[in-house]
Amino acid sequence: MTSTAAPARPAACTGYVGLTFDDGPSGTTTRLLDALRQNGLRATMFNQGQYAAANPSLVRAQVAAGMWVANHSYTHPHLTRLSQAQIDSEISRTQQAIKNAGGGTPKLFRPPYGETNATVKSLAARHGLTEIIWHVDSQDWNGASSDAIVRSTARLTNGQIILMHDGPANTLAAIPRIAQGLASRGLCAGMISPQSGRAVAPA
Ligand SMILES: [Zn+2]
Repeated sequence: MTSTAAPARPAACTGYVGLTFDDGPSGTTTRLLDALRQNGLRATMFNQGQYAAANPSLVRAQVAAGMWVANHSYTHPHLTRLSQAQIDSEISRTQQAIKNAGGGTPKLFRPPYGETNATVKSLAARHGLTEIIWHVDSQDWNGASSDAIVRSTARLTNGQIILMHDGPANTLAAIPRIAQGLASRGLCAGMISPQSGRAVAPA
């Protein structure tokens, strides 16, 4: 045992998983970024455009902390119920808000609630975005305990992506054990490839 809390990192990465946090940036983003950094984890942040526009400094903080910034619509509507023009506006305004904030031009898009169809997908593609859903749902949006969130990450295999959120206290509290669990299985937190839509080694 050592007295210092070193990040839980495997000696070698035998695989990569995609940690994702939706619906920021918000009042919890700074604590989430601190926890991820302290535990040697990188993640993809699917931001709402309206929050990126309201909190540009937090978008820059996400980038500075080594996170990947992605598009999660502007106002979080049920996109499949909207017109093409409305869907396009949700996507393009978010691209602009993130870019204006200093988050770069996102390459990844997650529709709210994971609800999509051919129209949503093709409009996203028109903006150079790859649609990313998830393989594992942590259920943190549904009141899952920290224990349950940690257990859900134990189901991840190489290349897979898990849905979590920037907000729930139980998610924040689970971060150190998520890091330990992944490290014990030789898994590292990776970036999501826009080409394959799967988690890969960071570029
Ligand atoms: Zn969401």
